[in-house]
Amino acid sequence: MKKKLEPLEVILGKAEFSDEEIVYLLSLSDKEDVKRLQRAAFDRTSQSVGHKVYYRGLIEVSNICTVNCRYCGIRKSNHHLSRYQMTKEEILSQAQWAAQQGFANICLQAGERHDEKFVSFICEVLEEIHACTVSSILPDGLGITLSLGDQTKHTLARWKYSSGNPNNLRYLARFETSNEKLFNFLHSACGRYEKKLDHRLLCLTHLKELGYQVGTGVMIGIPGQTLQDLCNDIRMFQKIDADMIGMGPYLMSEAADLCSMGQMPPKPLLQLTLNMIAVTRLVMHNINIAAATALDVLAPDGRIQGILHGCNVMMPNLSPQRYRAGYQLYDHKPSLKDDPTNGLTNFEKLINSTGRQIGWNQSGSSPRWLVRNGL
Ligand code: SAH
Ligand code: SF4
Repeated sequence: MKKKLEPLEVILGKAEFSDEEIVYLLSLSDKEDVKRLQRAAFDRTSQSVGHKVYYRGLIEVSNICTVNCRYCGIRKSNHHLSRYQMTKEEILSQAQWAAQQGFANICLQAGERHDEKFVSFICEVLEEIHACTVSSILPDGLGITLSLGDQTKHTLARWKYSSGNPNNLRYLARFETSNEKLFNFLHSACGRYEKKLDHRLLCLTHLKELGYQVGTGVMIGIPGQTLQDLCNDIRMFQKIDADMIGMGPYLMSEAADLCSMGQMPPKPLLQLTLNMIAVTRLVMHNINIAAATALDVLAPDGRIQGILHGCNVMMPNLSPQRYRAGYQLYDHKPSLKDDPTNGLTNFEKLINSTGRQIGWNQSGSSPRWLVRNGL
């Protein structure tokens, strides 16, 4: 017989949760119940990582990709897309702008490539960003998060070696779902498995061994995904001992291969995503959690709601406007609206309205990583 669960207030006061409790928390939809969950997650965030929100300026370096993830609008087989690659000078200019604004950290994201030209290009970019952003305010230069897909240990080691700021070097590689069958389905376009879950998990192990701050995450609301799958995803975050999590709703892309399977309606999808953020905070405590841009597709204040539910990292888009239309992972991605040159002050006010302050010029490293490394 199924064990009867304790009342919500009792469960929310716990430091550890059973699978049944996690699934129950993820399933909440009653207005008062979700408010209680939100408050518990917000308070846990204040206790375990403090009251600051840290910016990582997102630079979408290139939409050239060698793989075909079925959910993604810039996958290799989308032949309607014109492909771009930012020049080194363009990337450096955005990086310098970010440093001048007090961002302290940027994220370089792109499609997945393994060729030597790309790998050495990233090495050069890392070296030069460091050289041009060291200052009295940022003595170690900008902190950098790389989000460049599955890579070999050798490549990850080269990028680590090229970074002038190894204590602020992070890597974000979502495993997307811990359900192996679903993972295989998502990565089996053109009748062959292009990616294996084991591979991605191995990549995360390499990152750990190399000393990166390791970020991972999942998509929420993938067709066929269950609440138990999401609970297993959180268990996987624990197993990996992730330093950071970046996760967001699965959103349809007309240019992708999953379009005919539809998408959850915006309201329940937003609530499920916020529940997942809140529960991850309650389970993982002192990690960094990023408020995904995709939240803003579901509600105009989606990312702000993310902060209220346990996020402490935000990734304003710093990609030059002319490239934005070419980097549509999903449909209706906010672009113009996320222009930092006209929106940063307003955005700061919104963040302040949640009771958080922006950690200008601070690295905002994952407290879990700092503790693990005795820093
Ligand atoms: N190529 C790299 C980085 C760019 S994609 C990589 O794959 O890791 C970054 C993330 O975008 C992916 O991990 C995936 O979770 C997310 N993404 C792609 N398509 C999406 C979609 N249709 N809806 C929501 N998120 C999506
Ligand atoms: Fe390429 Fe990343 Fe999109 Fe997959 S998710 S197709 S690796 S850009």
